[in-house]
This record gives sequence, structure tokens and C-alpha cells, in this order.
Amino acid sequence: MLDVQGLRKVYDGRQRQVEAVRDLTFTIDDGDLVCLVGPSGCGKTTLLKCMAGLLPPTSGEVRLRGRAITGPPPGMAVVFQEYGRSLFPWMSVRDNVELPLRQKRIARGKRRELVDEALAAVGLADTHNAYPWQLSGGMQQRVAIARAVAYQPDVLLMDEPFAAVDAQTRADLEDLIRQLWQRLGVTILFVTHDIDEAVYLGQRVLILSSSPTVVQESLRIDLPDTRDQLHTRAEPRFTQLRGHVYEQIQAAKRGQRPPAQAGRP
Ligand code: ADP
Ligand code: MG
Repeated sequence: MLDVQGLRKVYDGRQRQVEAVRDLTFTIDDGDLVCLVGPSGCGKTTLLKCMAGLLPPTSGEVRLRGRAITGPPPGMAVVFQEYGRSLFPWMSVRDNVELPLRQKRIARGKRRELVDEALAAVGLADTHNAYPWQLSGGMQQRVAIARAVAYQPDVLLMDEPFAAVDAQTRADLEDLIRQLWQRLGVTILFVTHDIDEAVYLGQRVLILSSSPTVVQESLRIDLPDTRDQLHTRAEPRFTQLRGHVYEQIQAAKRGQRPPAQAGRP
């Protein structure tokens, strides 16, 4: 579904150049739910922007169903880290969520249905007429998530979407993402710096090294498909996988590449 080949991104500043991403290669299968973890500043947002067609790579490429991405592809939705800047302040919550559906030329009745459903799913059923600036940060982020969900994308890219929400809401939203993934069969790339979240959510976890960034490891999460906050997180296997991801991130920070096969959890 998604194919990232030798992706490199160098920001060209007036004073200096920043090599945000050195060499990233990985693929994401149709219908997979992949979490990407890596230290702050390692280029996760840069990678996502390249994948969304919002930023041209310096070299390498990103392909969606075999076709190189050169601009925002239809059928892809992105939830950004800076939720505050991703909603239109002069539009009500409802209009914000509905906007991409208008652009998709979905009929009015169907639009209404999709917006209602998405806002209910993120627990905002009674804030349709509010404006984003009247909501807390966590609520704004949920509006951004509802907008992506209502759009019914084939591919959903999310950049640390739960960083600003409280722990309880975050747990609910994690479960919502798993439900949507199972119900809609959407392909998801979920970026987080939270190891527990990556292991809980993902079918696979991609571990990035610190800058200059490469893929440290791709780890299959062999936990059962049905997950729940209490039991999954208490499973010995969960603890084991989390420990492994933690160790790999530490190794990446020290600049060590994982020895082939050894160190498998
Ligand atoms: P992450 O999302 O993993 O925290 P980013 O992709 O935001 O990392 O940033 C990776 C590196 O690229 C950082 O060193 C950051 O300072 C730099 N960077 C990000 N955006 C820009 C930009 N527009 N211009 C110059 N440097 C940038
Ligand atoms: Mg980021």
C-alpha cells in the first residue's frame, strides 16, 4: 500500500542545513496498523509530511499503491500534531468536520450522517455548533480526529495525535482507533513517542533511531487482535514487547544497530 524507499530529507536553511531524515526504507501493507516510535526530533513529522505529499523529499520516494506521491493523494487523511493550527477558527465544529466531505462531493444527507457518527465516536456529540477556540486542546484534537474519521480514508496518517489529551480520553481514543481500524479496514500509520501506546495499538512497531534517522527495527506485535486497556497491558507478552522496544530505542540513541536476529524478543 505504502512504500517508502531511501527517503532522505535535508532542510535547507540560510545559516545551516539540517538532515532530518537520512535513509528510510519500509513498506506498509494494505490494512495494516503500524506504529512508528522514535525520539523527539528524529524526523517523524518530516517523514509524515513527505508521505502525505506536503513536503518534497530531498531524495528517495514514497509510493502509494505503486504510484509516486507528488502532492496530497485523494483517500488519505492526516491528523497533525499541531491540532491548534489544523482547524479553521471561523467555522463551527460541524463545518470543520464536514468540509473535506464537501470536497469529496458527498451528498448532503450522507454528509450529515457521517459527521454525526464521527463526532459521536470521539465523544463530541453535543458540540456541533461550538467553535474550535471555545474548546479545550484535547477537544480540538478530537475534532481533528473526527474530521479524519468522517472522511473515511483508505490511509490514515496520525502524528502524535493524543499528546495533548488527558489519560482517560487518550485510552478511549486508542480503543477508538483500533475499532475503526477493525471496522473500516483502513491502513494506519500512527506516530507516537510513547512506547506503551505503540505496543498497545500496533500490529507492527517501526523503531526509528535518533537523527540522522534510519529504521532501527520493524517489530511484529503478536498480541491478540482483541485488545483492552486492562488485560492487554497486564499480559506478560505486552511487558516483554515493551521492554524490547525500550531497549532498541536506547540502543538507537547510542548509535548501535541491532545485531541481525539476535535480540529478538
Ligand atoms: P519529530 O517529529 O520526530 O520530533 P521533526 O520531523 O519535527 O522531528 O524534526 C526533525 C529535525 O528537522 C529536527 O532537527 C528539526 O529541528 C528539523 N526541522 C523540522 N522542520 C524544519 C524546518 N521547516 N526547517 C528546518 N529544520 C526543520
Ligand atoms: Mg513531530
